[in-house]
Amino acid sequence: MNERLVGGCKCGAVRYSGSRADVPMFRCHCRDCQQLTGSGHSDMVPLDAASFSMSDGSKTYEMAGGSGRSTFSGFCPNCGAQLTRRSERSPDRIYVHAASLDDPSVYKPAKSIYADCAQPWDNAVVATRD
Ligand SMILES: [Zn+2]
Ligand SMILES: [Zn+2]
Repeated sequence: MNERLVGGCKCGAVRYSGSRADVPMFRCHCRDCQQLTGSGHSDMVPLDAASFSMSDGSKTYEMAGGSGRSTFSGFCPNCGAQLTRRSERSPDRIYVHAASLDDPSVYKPAKSIYADCAQPWDNAVVATRD
């Protein structure tokens, strides 16, 4: 059984838990992540969607992903913290923002995606091994 991770928003209104999906943690530098986080990238931890549960009260923002299919950003409407990301392209997964975990130190990014979109001041691109 994969490690169970718990987390939530800044104000405590929204809490979640779920099991780690067996795929690498990553850092995303795409323009959506820049605009949604107000920073250079998102730090994402993939969880198994079937194992995921979140308390009531979160809101979802839907946007068109790069593939033309929808992507969903889950956040707390009270404090504004971003918690989750979901895509129609990978319905088995739900990605949580690493710093929303109760123990953010478990985050170990294995790669960057959309590294070509990284801002020149964002020097956090993780080198890919291939
Ligand atoms: Zn909150
Ligand atoms: Zn992104």
